[in-house]
Amino acid sequence: MSDCIFCRIVKGEIPSDKLYEDDDLLAFRDIRPLAPVHLLIIPKRHIATLADCSEQDAPLLGKMLAVVPRLAREAGLAEGFRTIINTGRVGGQEVYHLHVHILGGPQPLPAMLKH
Ligand code: AMP
Ligand code: ZN
Repeated sequence: MSDCIFCRIVKGEIPSDKLYEDDDLLAFRDIRPLAPVHLLIIPKRHIATLADCSEQDAPLLGKMLAVVPRLAREAGLAEGFRTIINTGRVGGQEVYHLHVHILGGPQPLPAMLKH
């Protein structure tokens, strides 16, 4: 996906503030942070949305979640954090390359959704 912004980050064509990388995943700071700490974890392979995943993606999805505690710890989020996956139009997804947001900071985050 040559026009996908996160694929371009994976390829190094667009710079990112990289925090973690392995064969399958990349984690970097969100360019427009919505909290004092705002990180993104993406698969290196292009997957547009969580809705495109199925049981066969369980190992990759598991890896994405399993690395969250380590990234949160290293970012100083000892007292908690929020993980978000926006999916599709209704989910408010802007970048169509699967990503997990990790958000946190010293203060509790606002309510997840307003009534
Ligand atoms: P979402 O609305 O879940 O699709 O979130 C997309 C996120 O990607 C937003 O929080 C953006 O600020 C972030 N983002 C977009 N472009 C970049 C970039 N070049 N580097 C880091 N984060 C980005
Ligand atoms: Zn992509």
